[in-house]
Amino acid sequence: MQSRHVRTDRHSSRMNLSRASRWIWAAATVTVAATRIAVPTLAEPAADMPACFSAAALAGKPEEKAPQKGVHTYDQMPKRTPVASFMPVPYGLRGAIRRVALADPSRKLVALTFDMCEQPGERAGYDGAIIDYLRRENVKATLFVGGKWMRSHAERFEQLLDSPQFEIGNHSEAHRNLRLLDGQPLADEIEGPQRAYEAARASLLARQCRPAAQPPERLGLFRFPYGACNPQSLAAVNDAGLLAIQWDHSTGDPSPGQSAKAIANGMIRETTPGSILIAHANGRGWHTADALPIAIPKLRAMGFEFVTVSELLASGKPETVERCYNMHPGDTDKYDHFHASLTSKPARSAGSKEAPQ
Ligand SMILES: [Zn+2]
Repeated sequence: MQSRHVRTDRHSSRMNLSRASRWIWAAATVTVAATRIAVPTLAEPAADMPACFSAAALAGKPEEKAPQKGVHTYDQMPKRTPVASFMPVPYGLRGAIRRVALADPSRKLVALTFDMCEQPGERAGYDGAIIDYLRRENVKATLFVGGKWMRSHAERFEQLLDSPQFEIGNHSEAHRNLRLLDGQPLADEIEGPQRAYEAARASLLARQCRPAAQPPERLGLFRFPYGACNPQSLAAVNDAGLLAIQWDHSTGDPSPGQSAKAIANGMIRETTPGSILIAHANGRGWHTADALPIAIPKLRAMGFEFVTVSELLASGKPETVERCYNMHPGDTDKYDHFHASLTSKPARSAGSKEAPQ
């Protein structure tokens, strides 16, 4: 039998924001608001243990990409069990983060982010062509994953957790418009993914295999569905210990009219050092998988280096705003009209870069 070790001392290789900004957290006079749960433990893997996932298991399948409508299997949210402890986001990091002013101008760091959203009444897709490309080219990225997506794609999500190049962020439970929620429904959207994440993490750590990554106990980053927030939901996210991460360049990939070349050209033209880019890997990114092999080699040739959002934040000062928006202040407020119902479908505006995120 192998001896058992608590893995907390090995989490440092996968940096999250609370670690990146440890000095800020330490200085904050805040109260720990939740009870710490037991940390999953793992039998120390033997050197000859197999990797947790084979190359064949990791390979994406084209049929996984298309979202399936009329699937209600995962609509029911799990019970409200306690989640890992956290501290509210302190002053200076509160607000919506759009990009980072880098401390060292000689390094052209950029964070590529992919949203993996899933609404009630559907099972969203898994865009394996994107993930496979990022793995093949060793491109770091941050994936904002919905709690419902984590549960409906349990095996794929554990694979992503076991990939050191990917950082996982919280993209709400079921992609509701948080501007329209308050009280318990708002708390559920924010806390649900942490619950699903902890379950997936425990499942990964219980496997009898040699993990490639050491996922942290808690998600530290949040992305608002549709990029839409109001002061109340923004405060609730920050109070839940999550940094609100937006973007300074949208690929516009939810719009079917956006070609791979147009997406790539936009990325090449608008990426600057410290940028945060948004795209989708849940089957709702049109032509994204074809755009990346055009844009990424070019950006690398221009000297850009792809890092996770937490690594970007640790490399400079986040630029925050008080309002969430896509391209212009106020441009995400319109989703209030489309999403008054919790089960309504996202609006599409073909050819527009302002399609729902
Ligand atoms: Zn989304």
